[in-house]
Amino acid sequence: MIKPLLQKQESSAQSDYHRLQVILFIAPMAALLHFLLIPFFYFTGVEILAWLNVISVLIWAYGIRLSNRNRINLAIQLFCCEVLIHSVVATYYLGADSGFQYYLWSMSALAVMDTSSSRWRVFITAIMLVLVFALLNVGLVRPVLAFPFSEYLLYMKLINMLVSGILSILAVMIMRGLHLSQQAELKMLADRDSLTGLFNRRQGGVLLEQAYAHALRTKQPLTVVMADIDRFKQINDSYGHAVGDVVLCQIADLLHSSIRKSDVLIRWGGEEFLLLFQDASAKAAENLLDNVNHRLELLCSEDSMPETVVTLSFGIAQWHSDESMDQTIMRADNALYLSKQRGRNRITLADESGTVNNAVHVNNPV
Ligand code: GH3
Ligand code: MG
Ligand code: MG
Repeated sequence: MIKPLLQKQESSAQSDYHRLQVILFIAPMAALLHFLLIPFFYFTGVEILAWLNVISVLIWAYGIRLSNRNRINLAIQLFCCEVLIHSVVATYYLGADSGFQYYLWSMSALAVMDTSSSRWRVFITAIMLVLVFALLNVGLVRPVLAFPFSEYLLYMKLINMLVSGILSILAVMIMRGLHLSQQAELKMLADRDSLTGLFNRRQGGVLLEQAYAHALRTKQPLTVVMADIDRFKQINDSYGHAVGDVVLCQIADLLHSSIRKSDVLIRWGGEEFLLLFQDASAKAAENLLDNVNHRLELLCSEDSMPETVVTLSFGIAQWHSDESMDQTIMRADNALYLSKQRGRNRITLADESGTVNNAVHVNNPV
């Protein structure tokens, strides 16, 4: 089973999903609100508005249905029309003191979520809603109907202002949350390798620089390990590229689960990984890699890998203060090269002079 550490790249359906979240939050509330107003208007004698609310409930319910069927833009347009007609009619009968025009404010925010229309059309729609709000607010102050409980109109206005305001705030809060999560997702996609979910080389470079600066400041040890899967081409050739990908992911998973949070794991190249151990000596890294090899053996003996022995070769270099990070990486790479030359499936420690020392650690000679 492929177990990438990162969720795979998401399609544009993701943005529809986000808009759906907003609509599925707002629309049921709107439907409920209209539903509650039906008996209210019916028993206060404003039957026309009671019937209007019946139609509104049906429209909002239908809009939810449309949204669930991926027709989000049509649903938004429908909601815009409903709010526009409802606000105008309610304000016409009860006057601006009832506060029903305030829902036009909320709707103007929702209107801009219609992505099927052009930017200008969306803008004009939103402006039109705000304009109607303004006209209702200043023009139709005297109600056509004599509302029998006119002394309560102030409370009605208060409730409508609060509900429409809170709905707007919540909608913007949801959009804000979605925006932040999308930003985090984008950052993850930019920083990570899409197959394994490990840091890619670009972000790896940034992390290496940070670790280098930290080591320079603190004079704490810093160790670089280059790791490479042995004879990986053979795995691809024998079992196919897809199985090769599974093996890559499993090795990435294995390495990731073996290191500390403060350590860095980068997919350096095709089947090559760079590990960076902060505040750790080469010896400590070597011990950890022993454990990795042990776990890899266990993994190979399980059924989760193709029936082939997968092994890793490592090169370790501990940074010393008078060399650059690139030089340390180069020493680790040279040590890895020697591991390969000496038969693979082994750990080689580079010495400080730029070559590799004699201490070559063999796992299970092949
Ligand atoms: P060595 O022991 O010397 O490292 O031999 P090797 O076969 O592992 O090395 P070589 O450089 O000859 O081949 C590396 C192979 O890795 C070739 C390439 O097709 C494969 N590879 C690189 N990236 C991926 C990948 O993302 N998925 C798969 N399935 N294979 C990949
Ligand atoms: Mg290899
Ligand atoms: Mg390689």
